[in-house]
Amino acid sequence: MKLQDKVALVTGANSGIGKGIATRFAAEGARVVINYHSPKDDQQAQAMARDLGHDSIALIGDVSKRTNVQRMMSQIVERFGRLDIAVNNAGIEIKKPFLEATDEEWDRVMGVNVSGVFYVSQSAASQMVKQGGGGKIINISSVHEDIPFSGYTSYCASKGAVRMMMRNLAIELAPYRINVNNIAPGAIATPINRAVLDDPNAKEQAIEEIPWGRFGQPDEVAAVAAFLASDEAQYVTGSTYTIDGGLVRQVTKY
Ligand code: NAD
Repeated sequence: MKLQDKVALVTGANSGIGKGIATRFAAEGARVVINYHSPKDDQQAQAMARDLGHDSIALIGDVSKRTNVQRMMSQIVERFGRLDIAVNNAGIEIKKPFLEATDEEWDRVMGVNVSGVFYVSQSAASQMVKQGGGGKIINISSVHEDIPFSGYTSYCASKGAVRMMMRNLAIELAPYRINVNNIAPGAIATPINRAVLDDPNAKEQAIEEIPWGRFGQPDEVAAVAAFLASDEAQYVTGSTYTIDGGLVRQVTKY
C-alpha cells in the first residue's frame, strides 16, 4: 500500500473526482479527511467516511473562506496530530459569455478555485513545515489551466492561476521537501458535466473531440493522484500531469 497511515485531506471529496481520490487513498492505507461544504451532504459524507475506514473522517467547510479552512486544519491536527497530503480538488465553473459575466460570478469562481487553493495550501504547508518530514500538495486544475474555453473565462482564468501558484509553491516549498503538482483532467464523467452527459447529442459531440473515444473516470484521475501522493514521487515537483485521453493533442478536423 502506497499511503499507509498517511493523513490526507481531499477538498470537495464527497463527489466526482474528489470521491474517486478519497476512495483510492483509503485503499492505499491513508487516513482520509473528506471535506464537503454543504450541510445537506452531512449524512452522505459521514457515511462515506465510515465506509472508507482507516479512521477516515468527514469535515464540513467552505474552502473559499479562510476561517473555515483554519477551523478544518485545527480539527485535523487535533484528531491526527499531523497532515501529510493535501488535495485541492474542490472547484466550480459558471458558463457565461464574457460580455454578460457578472462580478458576483467572477468572485464566486475565483473564491473557490483560486482563494480556496491558496488558503488550503498555505495552512497545509504551514502544518507540514511545523511537523517536519515533508508533504504533498496536489491541485486538481484542468486542461483549461492552459487551453482556452469559450464561455468559461472565469474558470480558465482560475485554473491558469492555479497553474502558476503550483509552480511558485514548488520552488518555495522544495527546501521543506513538500512536493507540489497539478493534475489537469480533460473530460471526466462527474456531476460537473451532468448537462453534457445527460444530452446524447452533446455527449457524442464531446466524445468526437477525445482521441481515446470516451470520457475519463474519477478512478483514472485518482490513480495518478495516488502516485503523486506517494514516496515514489519524491523527486517530482512543479509539474502538471494531464489526464485527458489525448484531448489537448486533438487537432480540429476540417
Ligand atoms: P463535482 O461537482 O462532482 O465536484 C466538485 C466538488 O467541489 C463537490 O464536492 C463540491 O461540493 C465541492 N465544492 C464546491 N464548492 C466548494 C467550496 N466552496 N468548498 C468546499 N467544497 C466545494 O465535479 P468534479 O468534476 O469532481 O470536479 C472536481 C475538480 O476537478 C474541480 O476542481 C474541477 O474544476 C476539476 N475538473 C473536472 C473536470 C471534469 O471533466 N469533471 C475536468 C477538469 C477539471
